[in-house]
Amino acid sequence: MTETLLINGQWRASSSGETFTVTNPATGAAIADVSSATIADTQAALLAAENAFPIWSEMPGRERARLMHRAMNVFRAKLDEASRLLTQEHGKPLNDSIKECRYSADVIDFYADESRRIEGTHFSGDMGPTHSFILKQPIGVVAAITPWNFPVDLLAWKLGPGLAAGCTFVVKPPSEAPLAATIFARAFHEAGLPPGVVNIITGDGPLIGGEMVTNPISRKIAFTGSTRTGIWIAEQAAKQLKAVTLELGGSAPFIVCRDADLDIAVPEALRRTFSHTGQICISVNRIFVQRERFNEFAERFADAASKLHVTADGIAEPDADMGPMISAAGLETVRQHVDDARERGAKILVGGASPTEPQYANGLFYLPTVLVDMQRDMRMMQEETFGPVAPIAAFDSLEEGIAMANDTPYGLAAYVYTQDLDTAFYAARKLRAGGIGINVNDITDIRGPFGGMKMSGIGRELGQPGLDAYMETKHVRYRYRTPNE
Ligand code: NAD
Repeated sequence: MTETLLINGQWRASSSGETFTVTNPATGAAIADVSSATIADTQAALLAAENAFPIWSEMPGRERARLMHRAMNVFRAKLDEASRLLTQEHGKPLNDSIKECRYSADVIDFYADESRRIEGTHFSGDMGPTHSFILKQPIGVVAAITPWNFPVDLLAWKLGPGLAAGCTFVVKPPSEAPLAATIFARAFHEAGLPPGVVNIITGDGPLIGGEMVTNPISRKIAFTGSTRTGIWIAEQAAKQLKAVTLELGGSAPFIVCRDADLDIAVPEALRRTFSHTGQICISVNRIFVQRERFNEFAERFADAASKLHVTADGIAEPDADMGPMISAAGLETVRQHVDDARERGAKILVGGASPTEPQYANGLFYLPTVLVDMQRDMRMMQEETFGPVAPIAAFDSLEEGIAMANDTPYGLAAYVYTQDLDTAFYAARKLRAGGIGINVNDITDIRGPFGGMKMSGIGRELGQPGLDAYMETKHVRYRYRTPNE
């Protein structure tokens, strides 16, 4: 499988003939070789998207919607294949992969319908006989760059609104997990979208991603990934004043107030900390419990964490709790953060090491880990650990808990568990994060904007703001003549 580049409706190998190998992080086994695109391939893809833009952007919204729905029918027929590949390349249990693929198709269907509802406003001028129309028009060619943790879903969040708006795309799935995302993106081609509307290139991030960002053809960069790469992209985009949507890192706090229902808070904190092996931008990174309930929460949480099932075969065990880390570098960061906390006095209640059973020997595994006796300056209290690690700290007043939660450069998601409405609204106003979950551990809803404050990014995906992010606003002012003129 080396003809993995889709450029202007043609499947191609890299012009250099080079490939790279995708491996299963649970076993180290090779899964597939895919093409490593060159700068010339990237430029060809951008040119194809530019040439397709007049065709796609001028197509009636109704027709765009029909093709997008058809693409998802194509994808749903391959959902089993895509989900299994996703589990192999990422390591997540199969049920999580199926959920991701289904949700991705829902996102496209949602925005396909929205493409029929794009409308502007109009008003009478208040300085003479004029009338103004506000038009919404697609920005142009979009460079979409996505990470490995939700390679299908995060592509859907970009293709859905962007295609609905009338934009054309060059997409670059992540090198660690490009296979399921490629099946997803190729569904648009197979459904009959005009050649060049969706182009897919795989390969080295800084090389081809860099070209996608800096080439003048792209007018918008839609990026999900690390804050480090996001800053570089913002700097490059600024030089040409390109539009950007940047969904970056996070360090989500989970606040448990004294009146919280622990029958709900414990399993919800558990799931949001350990699912996807903690490798979600809205994963819980730090748990803060009001002192009266601290011991009870920590004991119940640690006990539940010790019973989680880590799978080395997410297809055979589709409902396991978590799989491996995606990369050796990610695993090393987790080790360093846990060692740092341990050396500075944290107590490890559960985990704190890789599993030793033979089935884990060739994979990138780390046990679900729970720590207490945390200090503010420990690395995991300041940085994004992006692994299966839960530090738990106590707070006294609500103000103190919120201050501790906000004590991070990030601001993507925050969770609050309380049964008191005043506490909930106060926390929702004071927490510095783009998404607040009150007694719910997921801030994602297709209809609601998703994105970060501070170092977690710029702009919003999903909801109406997610569609607006792919459109320019044009003011047309028309002077009409009165009968006496
Ligand atoms: P990353 O920044 O290393 O890579 C993300 C993508 O960017 C990959 O496709 C990569 O190949 C590409 N890339 C790398 N260097 C590039 C460059 N110079 N120019 C253009 N593209 C380049 O991030 P990652 O390690 O793959 O992903 C993990 C990070 O993503 C975490 O920090 C996580 O919090 C974040 N994330 C954020 C969200 C969100 O919605 N806010 C969602 C998922 C993940």
